[in-house]
Amino acid sequence: MAALAETASTTPPAFHFLPIDSLLHPGYPAGVKSFSSRIIQWQQRHGRHTLPWQGSRDPYRIWLSEIMLQQTQVATVIPYFERFIARFPDLTSLAAAHEDEVLALWSGLGYYSRARNLHAAAGAIAERNNGEFPATADAIAHLPGIGRSTAAAIAALAFGQRCAILDGNVKRVLARHGGIAGWPGDRKVETALWQRAELHLPHTDIEPYTQGMMDLGAMICTRSRPACASCPISADCIANRQQRTAELPAPRPRKVLPEKRVQMLLLLDRGELMLEKRPARGIWGGLWSLPEIDPEADPTSHCRDHFGLTALTHQPMPQFSHSFTHFKLHIQPARIHLAPRNSTLAGQIWLPLADALDAALPAPVRKLVALLEHQAIQLTPACKPSGNATIAE
Ligand code: SF4
Repeated sequence: MAALAETASTTPPAFHFLPIDSLLHPGYPAGVKSFSSRIIQWQQRHGRHTLPWQGSRDPYRIWLSEIMLQQTQVATVIPYFERFIARFPDLTSLAAAHEDEVLALWSGLGYYSRARNLHAAAGAIAERNNGEFPATADAIAHLPGIGRSTAAAIAALAFGQRCAILDGNVKRVLARHGGIAGWPGDRKVETALWQRAELHLPHTDIEPYTQGMMDLGAMICTRSRPACASCPISADCIANRQQRTAELPAPRPRKVLPEKRVQMLLLLDRGELMLEKRPARGIWGGLWSLPEIDPEADPTSHCRDHFGLTALTHQPMPQFSHSFTHFKLHIQPARIHLAPRNSTLAGQIWLPLADALDAALPAPVRKLVALLEHQAIQLTPACKPSGNATIAE
C-alpha cells in the first residue's frame, strides 16, 4: 500500500507556480525502496525508542511532550517532562491545578504561552469532553495552542491516525530531499512542503514513520552537518546529490531586531525580594517578575512614588541582554535595599530568595535571583549613598 501511495509522486503535481526547482521527482533509483519504507526501517533500527514519553500510547504524555518539544531540544525537555509528569501524572490533575504551579514547572523552558495553553486545553477537555482526549487530528487541532502539525503528531502517535506532520525538522528533511527552494516560513513554500509530507505518507506503520521523520531531522539531517552517509533516503535526496545541503532549506530572511532597554529592580526588604505578577497576555504573561522602569528613570523616586517604599541603597548590577523572537531586550538590573515596608500592594509578593527561585520566573529573572542568592549578599541595609555605586559582580 505504501508503494501505491507514493507512486503518485511520479505525476507532476500542479506546483509550477511555486518557488520550487525540482518537484518533478524522477522516482526512486533502481533497487531503492519507497521513501516511507526506508524511514520506517531506519526508525526501527536506529531511531529513538527510550524517551520518557515513548513506550505508551497515552495521548496526555504524547501531547505534553509534543508541546514541550516545540522550539526546544529533546535533551532540554527530558528533565522538565519528568518533573511535570511527576506532579501532574494525568489530564485530570493538570486541569485541577492552579496556573501558577503549571507556570512554575515550566519556568526556564521559555515560550510560556505553551504552558498557559496546555493548562487551558486540559481544563477544556475535562469540562467539555469528560476528560476524554480527542482522538482525531481535526478535533485535537481545535484545542488551545495546538497547530496542524502538533495535532497530527499526537493523532498519529497516540491513535495511529494516518496524517502528515511538518515540524521544523521535518521541513528541513523534505526541503532537502525534494530540493524545495525558499524559506519554509513562506506560505507557498510551506504549502509545497505539506504536499510532499502527504505524498510520502505510508498506509501502515504510521507511528514508526512519524517518529522516524522526527528522529531523522533531529539525529541525521541536522541543520549544519547532515550525516548523509548514514541517511536512509540519501539515494534520491536532491540536496545530497547536488551538494546543496548548505543552501537548503533557505534561512529566514534577515531582519534587524528592534532593541529595547529597561531597568529591573531587585527590591529587598529584610531578606525578602518583591515580585510582581505580569499581565496574563504578552511577554512572560502570568509569570512573576521584577518591577521594570524606563532606563532613565530614578529607581529611588519610583519606589517612593509607585510603591510607597523608601530606598536606602541603590546598587546597579552588570547589564545583560535577552533575545526574544521579535526584539532584543537590554536589561540594567539594580539592587535596592529598602527600609522596612508597611504594606504589600495588590499583584505583589515578597519572598525569601530561595523561595523566589521556586516561583514561575522568566529565565533572565531567575538568573538574577540565583545570582543574588549565590553571592549570599548582606541583606541588611549598608546605608551607602544612593544612585551611583557600582559593584563588581
Ligand atoms: S541525504 Fe543528507 S540532506 Fe538528504 S535528507 Fe538525508 S541527511 Fe538530509
